[in-house]
Amino acid sequence: MPLLLLTNDDGVHAPGLTALEQALAELGDAYVLAPEREQSACGHALTLHRPLRVDRLGERRFAVNGTPSDCVNLGVLGFLAERPVLVVAGVNHGTNLGDDVTYSGTVSAAMEGTLLGVPSIAVSLAPNGDLAVAAEVARLIALRVLVAGLPKKTLLNVNVPAAPRGIRLTRLGHRVYSEKIVEQTDPRGRTHYWIGAGAPEWEELQGTDMGALHEGYVSITPLHLDLTNHRALDALADFGRSLDAQYRPTARKRARSE
Ligand code: MN
Repeated sequence: MPLLLLTNDDGVHAPGLTALEQALAELGDAYVLAPEREQSACGHALTLHRPLRVDRLGERRFAVNGTPSDCVNLGVLGFLAERPVLVVAGVNHGTNLGDDVTYSGTVSAAMEGTLLGVPSIAVSLAPNGDLAVAAEVARLIALRVLVAGLPKKTLLNVNVPAAPRGIRLTRLGHRVYSEKIVEQTDPRGRTHYWIGAGAPEWEELQGTDMGALHEGYVSITPLHLDLTNHRALDALADFGRSLDAQYRPTARKRARSE
């Protein structure tokens, strides 16, 4: 049986992870390596300045005192007896849509898998959704990926609405940042702030992940890790050349590089 690596950012005890584990059990030996506590919105953080410890919770279940990306890194680079053929992160409690994917520990875990050369999927569920439905969607997609593979350096970001009517391939939507920080005063008279407190608003929905969910469809967005804006390379060509022409290294810097 091929080895599958499952993780999440809601913590190893989250029900979404158990649902995923059960749904994927028939596809391979599903190993769970997940953060010991919730790490939502931790992004792609890796733990480099303290040791990682792994607690065995079951035959194929492990808790790590680190981030989702730590878990994938450990799992792919040698903690498991074999290299996994697939990384699946989720089922996240709450959607990971549009620009928000950059904050997501769930999506970042799939990015880490992709960077390490393992086909990877992130699965997230709308707050009012059904875990069993999301896990079944994850199983369908995982099976397809195992059979057909994925384009190079590409991961799938999957979002599941409450009662899906079908499945759509989408692009990332964009948020409209109209919300303000919330400023409050604590009982000792000191000011503190809350960020990210408002309901998100979205630009045009047509063809986007948010649009698909809005219409009741599962959204699958292929993401790749090349953040280069290739069109901007052309648009900024003169900018780059004139900066280079303008720049005069100081004598000291030049001496150091010689
Ligand atoms: Mn989460």
